Amino acid sequence: MYKSLSANIYQTGDSRVFKLETSVIDPPKPNQVLLKQTAIGVNYIDTYFRSGLYPVELPATLGDEAVGIIEQVGEGVSEFSAGQRVAYPAAKGAYTQYRTIDTKELVPVPDGVDDKTVAASLLRGMTVEYLFCRLYKLTANDTILIHAAAGGVGQIACQWARAIGATVIGTVSSAEKAQTAKLNGCNFVINYREQDFVEAVNDITKGEKVDVVYDGVGKDTFMKSLDCLRVRGLMVSFGNASGKPDPLDVLELSKKGSLYLTRPTLYHYTRNREEILESAARYLNMLEKSRIKIQIGETFALSDVTKAHDYLVQRNRIGSPVLIP
Ligand code: NDP
Repeated sequence: MYKSLSANIYQTGDSRVFKLETSVIDPPKPNQVLLKQTAIGVNYIDTYFRSGLYPVELPATLGDEAVGIIEQVGEGVSEFSAGQRVAYPAAKGAYTQYRTIDTKELVPVPDGVDDKTVAASLLRGMTVEYLFCRLYKLTANDTILIHAAAGGVGQIACQWARAIGATVIGTVSSAEKAQTAKLNGCNFVINYREQDFVEAVNDITKGEKVDVVYDGVGKDTFMKSLDCLRVRGLMVSFGNASGKPDPLDVLELSKKGSLYLTRPTLYHYTRNREEILESAARYLNMLEKSRIKIQIGETFALSDVTKAHDYLVQRNRIGSPVLIP
């Protein structure tokens, strides 16, 4: 019998809504495994569910991603075996020590990559995979703008874009973050606290502007991001770190140059087994080959989940937090 400590919520609200509870974990059902989790990722989407920005059925165990070792396999499981190290990028209920989980959510983890690195970056890395390899196939001919270039998604995106050969302009809010963005391969870094980023992009590109903007900041950057795009450029609004963008008058897309706009989410790019496996493999391969390096933020005990949420949204950190169950 396995007992598991979980961080649960019974109401939405600020980071103090978590309740730590111990429960007995049922054996795995057919096509499930029982997972002993070793490291858990903490993502903005967890804060959106916690705060009520995204709808959530209560009570809930939050968290989408973790790494662990398979303890038991259920009936009919042939793809995985007990003792194997696996991870998942998008399956609610991660803030716990042990859990059962459908095998269709799992991906194998290569030996050379450690648990904390995977927990801190699998969801974010698979996000960059679909943004650059499937939503729009980024090429060496593209010039792109990545907001929050020193953030979790940002650091992966800058390194991956440089590996492709694209020209990368990144925005950041401090000199320290500018340094990180440069190290991650940004060709040009704009401190958007000190400089108007539309003017800076215009100067850098000599008025040509960029082919694609990747905007995970949202409210504070969305409208101005449209002004950084060339005619028929692509606006990818993929997050709300500063709040969700204000409503858009669709005519603006025409006025600003027949722009394309998409608001994607990882769930819609991991709709079946093939997409999950391929996306994870592409990202984990970049890690294994050290083409992407991850700077992890602070590590917290699962019981300190409130601190981990506060840390994630605090703006001056570099690196994503990890929970250790
Ligand atoms: P980050 O580590 O990038 O943290 C967010 C960053 O946003 C901060 O570091 C900060 O960088 C910037 N920022 C700007 N304004 C604010 C503000 N008011 N409060 C806090 N931060 C602000 O986070 P993640 O890498 O975890 O996620 C980045 C974005 O990607 C999030 O919006 C997230 O929801 C989204 N996302 C979307 C996915 C999808 O499929 N759609 C999947 C995964 C993540 P700076 O100080 O340099 O401005």
